[in-house]
Amino acid sequence: NREIHLASRPQGWPTEDTFRLVETDVPTPGPGQIVVRNQFMSVDPYMRGRMNDVKSYVPPYALDAPLDGAAIGEVVASEAADIAVGTTVQHGLGWREYALLDATAARQVDPDVAPVSAYLSVLGMTGLTAYAGLLEVAAMKPGETVFVSAAAGAVGSLVGQIAKLKGAGRVIGSAGSPAKVERLRALGFDAAFDYHDGPVRESLRAAAPDGVDVYFDNVGGDHLEAAISAMNLHGRAAICGMISQYNATEPSPAPRNLALVIGKRLTLRGFLVNDHHDVRPAFVRDVAGWLRDGTLSYDETIVDGIENAPAAFLGLLRGDNLGKMLVKV
Ligand code: NDP
Repeated sequence: NREIHLASRPQGWPTEDTFRLVETDVPTPGPGQIVVRNQFMSVDPYMRGRMNDVKSYVPPYALDAPLDGAAIGEVVASEAADIAVGTTVQHGLGWREYALLDATAARQVDPDVAPVSAYLSVLGMTGLTAYAGLLEVAAMKPGETVFVSAAAGAVGSLVGQIAKLKGAGRVIGSAGSPAKVERLRALGFDAAFDYHDGPVRESLRAAAPDGVDVYFDNVGGDHLEAAISAMNLHGRAAICGMISQYNATEPSPAPRNLALVIGKRLTLRGFLVNDHHDVRPAFVRDVAGWLRDGTLSYDETIVDGIENAPAAFLGLLRGDNLGKMLVKV
């Protein structure tokens, strides 16, 4: 059994030395436990925050112990009455080939409904974040103009498409390369720009001449500042993530125009997907339907092998991924 440990706490950008590949024995289950052979593990930006030794909404990773995160795999040994060997389950012990867990910590999923990786992307936490953030937190209404940053990423690419499917008037996305911008246009975004091409404020103003009603923030910093300037009266921003800040060693000066929220009566609302499980039934109904009729696309970037999980994580922070970053264990 190979697993990835946290070898050191990064200051600024993590490197390969942040991680250590460790070999251990394949575990055996005790009463009520199962052993899962992981097939896919999720690689997520929030994992960067857990590498810092600070109090947050999830506890920090321990040094010299395996990292964890969402994973999916097949039960290969079971001492639990209600989970048979061969069952596909989702659970929270990624970053290792074999996971030992209490059966109660595993959720059975049906591998015939969708490819199993989809439970970690479009049908999982990623999809729910996009759906709940856009429709509940920002309360997007038909006809509105929506701007989303990190738009070619896992959450962002779904936000833009769901906005169109729910009747947005105009959807704009920003991303970090010409290939990603092209992908956004193919996904049905009305406008897209590469944020390296100039100040975000100018690119956004050109893409949204009539302003923005809803901003779905994945990036923070200059992107948030540009969105505040572009937002219309009573605009709403769902503050989902601020990936531009995760490796920063100094606080960002942006947004420098926060006072505009007063005159424009803006709402900036932070959220965590975990508080929005109440919308799961509507999410599953809508997203499953859109996947079935082909109106919703989802990209996955799949890196092969647990030994390459650190590289996948570093790549995610640099923007190597199109859609959801996953490791095939
Ligand atoms: P993504 O698939 O979007 O991957 C991250 C992307 O961020 C990269 O591909 C990169 O794309 C972009 N990026 C990295 N650095 C910068 C930068 N300095 N400026 C602009 N873009 C940058 O990840 P997810 O979809 O999983 O997550 C998106 C956001 O949502 C993150 O901020 C994450 O923390 C947050 N999140 C929040 C949740 C919540 O409950 N609030 C739940 C899930 C995610 P590019 O090439 O375009 O730069």
